[in-house]
Amino acid sequence: MGLLSEGSPLSWEDTKRLADHVRKHGVVQFINLYNRLRDRQGDMLKWGDEVEYILVKFNDEEKTAKVSLNAEKYLSLLQEKEREDPNNVKSLWRPEYGAYMIEGTPGKPYGGLLAHFNVVEANMQYRRQEASKLLEPGEVLMSLTNFPRLGAPDFTDPPAVPTPQDGASKSLFFPDQAIFLGHPRFQTLTRNIRSRRGEKVAINLPIFKDENVKLPFRENLIELGDDGSSEKAAKDDHVYMDAMGFGMGCCCLQLTFQACNIEEARTLYDQLTPLCPIMLALTAASPFYRGYVTDVDCRWNVISSSVDCRTREERGLEPLKENKFQISKSRYDSIDSYLSEEGAKYNDVKLIYDEDIYKQLLDNGIDKLLAQHIAHLFIRDTVSLFSEKVNQNDLEDTDHFENIQSTNWQTMRFKPPPSNSSIGWRVEFRPCEVQITDFENAAIVCFVVLLTRVILSFKLNLLIPISKVDENMSRAQKRDALRTEKFWFRKDITSNAKQTNNEDEITEFTIDEIVNGKEDIFPGLIPLVYSYLASMDADADTHCTIQRYIKLIERRASGELLTTASWLRKEVLSHPDYKKDSKISQKINYDLLKKIHDLETNKISCPELLGPCTVSKTTETIPVAMKKAENCVSSVDC
Ligand code: ADP
Ligand code: MG
Ligand code: MG
Ligand code: MG
Ligand code: MG
Repeated sequence: MGLLSEGSPLSWEDTKRLADHVRKHGVVQFINLYNRLRDRQGDMLKWGDEVEYILVKFNDEEKTAKVSLNAEKYLSLLQEKEREDPNNVKSLWRPEYGAYMIEGTPGKPYGGLLAHFNVVEANMQYRRQEASKLLEPGEVLMSLTNFPRLGAPDFTDPPAVPTPQDGASKSLFFPDQAIFLGHPRFQTLTRNIRSRRGEKVAINLPIFKDENVKLPFRENLIELGDDGSSEKAAKDDHVYMDAMGFGMGCCCLQLTFQACNIEEARTLYDQLTPLCPIMLALTAASPFYRGYVTDVDCRWNVISSSVDCRTREERGLEPLKENKFQISKSRYDSIDSYLSEEGAKYNDVKLIYDEDIYKQLLDNGIDKLLAQHIAHLFIRDTVSLFSEKVNQNDLEDTDHFENIQSTNWQTMRFKPPPSNSSIGWRVEFRPCEVQITDFENAAIVCFVVLLTRVILSFKLNLLIPISKVDENMSRAQKRDALRTEKFWFRKDITSNAKQTNNEDEITEFTIDEIVNGKEDIFPGLIPLVYSYLASMDADADTHCTIQRYIKLIERRASGELLTTASWLRKEVLSHPDYKKDSKISQKINYDLLKKIHDLETNKISCPELLGPCTVSKTTETIPVAMKKAENCVSSVDC
């Protein structure tokens, strides 16, 4: 999220009462914005990453590692430079859901030159150092998708107690103090999502059935203060979680791209969609939840369920009475429709939207694909409204539109230009799990950016039916999906030859085949990146940096290297204290996090995870001469 709007949150009752008001004005605001900006042309390909971090507090005497609830204190220090001189900072810092989380982005977006790939990792290193410098002894900043004992007994520093009877979450496990309180947004969202749903959120992840897990695996929840509702919601043989914090308290790696105009943004949105599950499987990094080893490798379904505000009617459990629609997905999930003309025929999932809003958009000159996209986003109610923002000037303001847009947390986000800014049409790529080291995160970021350029300059067509993307999303999260699953993918991505039948266009490939190619059958994403690079003039350092990054991706995809999730599993399962009971004790957690910290500070090497070479030619700045050149060349013509 960008700068958070300030103000006082309305009660849930008032927010609910104003749901139609927000929707009505939000749609009008989008229409006005669209008509103002639809013809905007000539923006450069710009992009930037977002990395989320957790703060961990080690106690070396007691051999414990806990999340440190100090984010607010550090955030305000980290934002000082921005407050003084917003245009000349190397990093920007934002609050995140957890009181133990912060998000960092580069101070400015990167541009279209290959040489920018050299600064990405250095900037990530800078961010890590900048924040780490502020920390108390024992505290460490980590880019870890999930804290393994999040929600397990005694997981915070200072200690905090869950309050099942009251508060925002009413969780048996996750205390409200672990929510970032420096801005009311997070608590308000938590309370309102729970209130709208009519019950606590429920997350059930299959437990990893190791030898000594007693089956059926079932926990005593009454003992924790359950009033019976959790008992009902918890499934046997699953790790049960009951709060928004379990999902929104995870960290991820996101990327935003600016396109040269709205058409290119729609193309990128669509073409990157089939890559979401592939990149999710490649970046899988979160096998542990609430102190247990689970049978999944990714956070996606957890975060999706963690903000699932749908009522029982909307979930199809009761006939529709109060609500308008049955809705198949949470507001946090994979996208439901493509936006470009080419994508139209692959929109095979029935899209739910309000006919009146759809018609209103069409009547105002918006085409069907974009109209149904927006109308679909607007099936959701606002779940956070601030008193200062209720009444707006729809010709200028876009807060009501942003309110709904920014709480549709999907794999891809189509971002219109903010009013009164120099920023163009953008798309955001949101599936990736964050990795332990800056080297890995830089590699992923650069790889995805390269893919966007390959897509645009080779006019690739990666489209497959949306239903198949959904199927891939669920496959991507399974334990060891990278090695064991196949994924739907388009057979011919380069020639655009017309097939009459969607089914004939696609087949199932392994991640290795998709990324590295399959002889005579499929070219592979990396070989395509290489042929793109061959046509570009990269300086020696940049070339070397890109090589190292691509090598990492290549080896991860082939299974030669472990995914972060597989490595984490291996570490726990081979720990001398591990009792084959799928439990992560304080000591196991402590040792694991210490090792992770050693890894990210280069104290130890880890060839099975990172390969032989983790040094890139990253630098803090790109040469001035190249920066100048940037003004005349953009790597992709449009
Ligand atoms: P959100 O949380 O809404 O996704 P952030 O502001 O946290 O947004 O992150 C946006 C990302 O987009 C940052 O990496 C930033 O560098 C990048 N960015 C900023 N301006 C542009 C632009 N004009 N084009 C592309 N990316 C941009
Ligand atoms: Mg983002
Ligand atoms: Mg952000
Ligand atoms: Mg974030
Ligand atoms: Mg987040």
